[in-house]
Amino acid sequence: MTEQKRTLADIKAFITDMDGTLYVSDRLIPGAVEFISLLRERGYPFLFLTNNSSARAVSYRDRLRRLGIEAETGEILTSGAATAMYLLKETSHRRIFLVGTPALREEFIEAGFVMADQGAADAVVLGFDKTLTYERLKRACLLVNDDAPYYATHPDFTCITDEGLIPDTGAFIEAIKSVTGRVPHVIGKPQSEIVKAALAKVGHKAEVTAMVGDQLDTDMTMANRSGLYGILVFTGETSKRDAAKNRIITPDLLCSSVARLTERIRAL
Ligand SMILES: [Mg+2]
Repeated sequence: MTEQKRTLADIKAFITDMDGTLYVSDRLIPGAVEFISLLRERGYPFLFLTNNSSARAVSYRDRLRRLGIEAETGEILTSGAATAMYLLKETSHRRIFLVGTPALREEFIEAGFVMADQGAADAVVLGFDKTLTYERLKRACLLVNDDAPYYATHPDFTCITDEGLIPDTGAFIEAIKSVTGRVPHVIGKPQSEIVKAALAKVGHKAEVTAMVGDQLDTDMTMANRSGLYGILVFTGETSKRDAAKNRIITPDLLCSSVARLTERIRAL
């Protein structure tokens, strides 16, 4: 007897990635506006979920609006915000050395953290720092080598932009590992910490929630591990060939783009 397979018709809520799924840099991916409008029209709870911790929810809202996608900050979860929430809830670390952009710094300060730029730190938190300097990388390595608790907002090696793939937090994790031998506790996709936060926002269980994204190692790995319905799109970091070659990570549905997914939902 074969197990009843889930289909798109079983899905009650959507979590959607942004970079490579709805846009690449400032270029909207065709169908993205219609996809979000359809989710609203049909009354599906949904969440914009990004591992990119270089900006805050308000910047993503503004970017989405600029591109013609209506969004509210409460509908957006970044790995940076999820990491701040996690540390507040699960740890007593409040004086942190943060490797991150000014926006991420603001996010943590507003959440109640003190920036330990010098002296002792309760923990090291690594984010997608587009302003990274040698001095900060050095201090992170020294603290990590000294056994400071060590966290990272997300594990992506690369971020897709209109210039091509650029180094992301995973690349910094590797640099620090090569010096200290340590790896951080990661909060963002594909980790269960961010899944919990995302499901709490959409108000549904993993089994009836879809994860729409362009990456196998974050979006689809998270879907597979957490029991979300994985929908892989080919408008970002993964090609059809990559997906076909990978026998470990298995999306539930392949769509050339969110435009195709929109058609599939309309046809339900
Ligand atoms: Mg993406």
